[in-house]
Formats: sequence, C-alpha cells, structure tokens
Amino acid sequence: MSEMIHAVPTASKAIAVTFDDGPNAEYTRKTADMFNAVGGKATFFMIGEKIEAHPDFVRDIHDEGHEIGNHSYSHPFLTRISGDEAFAELARTDKLIEQATGIRTAVFRAPYLDSNDETLAIADRFGYSSIGALNLDTRDWEMPGTDHILAQTWDHVRGGAILLFHDGSGDRSQTMEAIRILLDKLTSEGYELVTVSELLSRRSR
Ligand SMILES: [Zn+2]
Repeated sequence: MSEMIHAVPTASKAIAVTFDDGPNAEYTRKTADMFNAVGGKATFFMIGEKIEAHPDFVRDIHDEGHEIGNHSYSHPFLTRISGDEAFAELARTDKLIEQATGIRTAVFRAPYLDSNDETLAIADRFGYSSIGALNLDTRDWEMPGTDHILAQTWDHVRGGAILLFHDGSGDRSQTMEAIRILLDKLTSEGYELVTVSELLSRRSR
C-alpha cells in the first residue's frame, strides 16, 4: 500500500509549495499571482464544496499551470467516518475537479492529515498519491505570526521538500506575507517551484 509522502528523494533543486482549504476568491488568487510573478507553480488542495461554488475560478488557476488536488468534499476526519463515506468524499471532489479543469487529479491530501491504512487504500483506488508535508509545525491557520510561520519552514527547505500552507478559511494575511518572503528567498537561491506531480516525476531511481 502507498504511504503518505512528505518529501521526494530527488537530485533536483525543486520544491513543491502547497495550499489547503481553498479555493478562496481573495487568497487563492493572491497566491497564484505571487507564483505567476516568479514563474513558479503551486499546488492547491481544494475542498469540494468550495470548488462547487467557484468552478470557473478553479479552471483559471488550473489553466495558469498550477495543480489542483483533492482535499475531500466537506473536510471531515476521514478515519472517523465509514469507508463508504470516505470513498464518497473523495469521489465527489474527484468529479468536481474533473468537471472544472477537464482532467482528473493525481494528488490527494487528507483533511487534518488524518489518515490510516483504510484511508490510504481508498486513495489508492483513485490512483492518488497521498501527500503530506515537512513543515507541519507552522500552524499558519492559527495566525501565529509571519516570523513563526517562516521560522518553522526554513529548516525544511531543501530539494524535494513538500511545504504546506493554507489559502482558505479565515484571515490568511500572515500566510500571504510569509509566502511573499519565502518565494523571494527560494527564487534567489535558485530553487525551482514545481507542482507536486512534477516533483514526484523527478524522484530519484
Ligand atoms: Zn484542510
């Protein structure tokens, strides 16, 4: 069975920066704009019920070259509901992403990273890679301060890293400021900002 992937062994100086809980008309747009400005790509793990409300917006983000991942339909703790319910959560959002973008996604992140063998097996049935991240202590959704978000991220910056932030649910201004500083530093250090699927394709053999 697949395992949750927090980083990809690769010789490539590339990082996948990911954002959970959108789409959000304000912050997802701002985030994509910041990546577009430096020629980078981001991955957005989106919630189905929010995709349903903004399918055209989701298509725009996809058309700009960013990746849309499955983050369930209603953001439950998947290990606390039945297997059938968990399957339905993923299936509904799989369909919504395909309807909005024209393609099926290959990446999934469990809400709250709450996952067990059954969750991983369900993700496998969709052909998904289950994606985690290295910087899980930023707690950026709690507005701990831009400095804290960055301090908890720097140690994990290396080729193959997957980083997690939030562009949905509440005031994300600290995250936006952190991303502005992060992108500035990563690009000046020569890192390539790629989608999760692109990073996975560069796995060392
Ligand atoms: Zn989430």
